[in-house]
Amino acid sequence: MSRVLVLNSGSSSVKYRLFDGAQTLAKGLIERIGESGGEVPDHRAALQGIMDEIDLAGLAAVGHRVVHGGADFTAPTVIDDQVVARVEALVPLAPLHNPAALTGIEVARKLLPEVPQVAVFDTAFHATIPPEGVVWAIDKSLAEQWQIRRYGFHGTSHAYVSRRTAEVLGRDPAGTNVITLHLGNGASACAVQGGRSVATSMGMSPLPGLVMGTRSGDIDPTVIFHLHRVAGLPLDEIEDSLTRHAGLLGLTGANDLRTVLERRAAGDADATLAFDVYCRRIREYVGAYLAVLGRVDAITFTAGVGENSPAVRAASLSGLEPLGIAVDPARNERREEIISPPGTRIPVCVIPTDEELEIADQSREALSLPR
Ligand code: ADP
Repeated sequence: MSRVLVLNSGSSSVKYRLFDGAQTLAKGLIERIGESGGEVPDHRAALQGIMDEIDLAGLAAVGHRVVHGGADFTAPTVIDDQVVARVEALVPLAPLHNPAALTGIEVARKLLPEVPQVAVFDTAFHATIPPEGVVWAIDKSLAEQWQIRRYGFHGTSHAYVSRRTAEVLGRDPAGTNVITLHLGNGASACAVQGGRSVATSMGMSPLPGLVMGTRSGDIDPTVIFHLHRVAGLPLDEIEDSLTRHAGLLGLTGANDLRTVLERRAAGDADATLAFDVYCRRIREYVGAYLAVLGRVDAITFTAGVGENSPAVRAASLSGLEPLGIAVDPARNERREEIISPPGTRIPVCVIPTDEELEIADQSREALSLPR
């Protein structure tokens, strides 16, 4: 038996799921940790609550989601003191994300000292992107000194979904090229060549690339200088604006795409423009990754928006028929696994992501445990 507990620790929440093989035995979410009105005062109490709740018999591993693995971590890694220190050293690269994972790791190691723990990094899948896809054309010595380069995120999702796409199409993942579009609150695109990431839209942080719920995605960096120098905004405020008050929220006042779609249906001009900006950005990345890959065997939508919005899927790929890309309206509405009409050159798929399952599988792999 190889049961795995997957923990996804955020700054004020812990998501957990207990697996037996691919089967989920228990799952839950503890929110508003340490906030007034929250259930628990800190991460220790949250994790203690989870341990009390679930049956720990036969637990073979704990898999931790860690957002940033820097250039250092290119695979799931069994956690020891040294690994913790290396993840700590990455905090300056991911000040908004890594501290929470470290807290989760520290508490879980104390509570379950005899269970091996594995760190699974959002960045690791992108370690295969070639240098020309991660280097930005800035002063080389500055980039090296400060570890400035593209890292990419959502790696467990892109890995899982690209592999599943090949399975759905009855192909060998090692010989299949897929453009994966992970469209959730955060959103990113990835070009996957034979199971390996070769391009992705997020960067040093999850800020660039596609338009997201509250993040801007790509902008000209001059916007930041301008807001600082001309508008007089402090840098922290600009960062907060671009990460938490931009994207769909910035354009419409609502970060949830469902709200934007409702307002658009009612004729709201801001919502209509936001939808168009959102879908056009996806189309631009699809075009870019067609060029990166040369041969594309599938385009796959996943995550909250990608799995649930026929409107976004249709609009993002509209006008691409000359490139052999089309969406069949009826299949798209029914959300079939393949939503392109039969006979189009590049199949378009909708594949539900499962980052926790992928983390559980990768944790077992790191420990050479059977599934
Ligand atoms: P996260 O990135 O937090 O894991 P999800 O992948 O669950 O988020 O995606 C959440 C987003 O999915 C919501 O903010 C919402 O905009 C979108 N979404 C969920 N259901 C629908 C739907 N039926 N139609 C359109 N958008 C949806």
